[in-house]
Amino acid sequence: MPADIPQRDAIDQALVDGVLKHQLRPLAKTITLIESQRPDHKARARSVLEGLLPHTGNSMRIGISGVPGVGKSTFIEALGLYLIEQGHKVAVLAVDPSSSVTGGSILGDKTRMELLSQNTGAFIRPSPSAGSLGGVAEKTREAMLVCEAAGFDVIIIETVGVGQSETAVAGMTDIFCLLQLPNAGDDLQAIKKGIMEIADLIVINKADINPQAANVARSQIKSALGMLRHSSPNWTPPVLMLSALQKQGVAEFWNTIEDYRSTMKRSGEFDARRRQQARAWMWELIDQGLRARFASHAAVQQDLPGLQAAVEAGQTTPSAAASRLLGHLG
Ligand code: GDP
Repeated sequence: MPADIPQRDAIDQALVDGVLKHQLRPLAKTITLIESQRPDHKARARSVLEGLLPHTGNSMRIGISGVPGVGKSTFIEALGLYLIEQGHKVAVLAVDPSSSVTGGSILGDKTRMELLSQNTGAFIRPSPSAGSLGGVAEKTREAMLVCEAAGFDVIIIETVGVGQSETAVAGMTDIFCLLQLPNAGDDLQAIKKGIMEIADLIVINKADINPQAANVARSQIKSALGMLRHSSPNWTPPVLMLSALQKQGVAEFWNTIEDYRSTMKRSGEFDARRRQQARAWMWELIDQGLRARFASHAAVQQDLPGLQAAVEAGQTTPSAAASRLLGHLG
């Protein structure tokens, strides 16, 4: 066991055992520990996670994004209920950094997926509300591992179609799905923001409202995708049409996910993506740790305001100031 991880006491061992037995209370408690800012809670969370780690990884991790109102919660509920009927266990987590501003999560809210949240085969957890996107993403990644250890074999991570959170969610999931509205313009926004490039699967929702418009949107998106370069040599992102409200297209969506999984597993890309994600996660934590150490260093705190002002005034070059400040770290 690494040196900075304390010996697990009886209370925390009970959490590990409870999670492994698929008990929802220990699962929720462990995630609360992970989300806590208290240093002692953080240490305990690390120790519990260490105990769970050998039991993680056995799920399909699905990222779902789209602008507010596109139908994410309607779709996730329909998909979740469909999967539970097929014998799966489904956890829904959310990455919503805006919730740290509003103080409450708009995503993963239980009232939004009422039927699914009442189902014993499902676990729904709103976005952690503290901190930066990096902090929120880290906690969600860890919550995902806890859910896997608890036996959930499908993990859905929802995020809103604004800002940088898509990249973070694509960086922690096996497949990243973008929900689109059946109107032109929506897809242009996604292209502009670079979201279409990271999507492995695109879904046009609300196709029931105007099937013809949905068809047009589909061919537009397909031709737009033709101009973008998808990162996988083994997979061309399909464009599906769906009505989450009428539960049409949900089975086809899941078949596509299974097709993706077997294609990517066969080519080795599935595991390569997870390895790359784990490596990137480690480096992100190193970056965060170094920044935190830097910011709390006494000499840095003393020198920083003056040097920053000197850089702004053009009296010192940014590189000279950076080099002097970094020099304090030894
Ligand atoms: P979210 O903000 O992306 O989570 O969107 P919601 O799932 O809350 O859906 C927003 C609104 O769109 C709700 O009134 C839904 O009932 C409606 N909606 C969702 N999916 C469909 C669909 O496939 N067809 C139609 N007609 N309405 C839908």
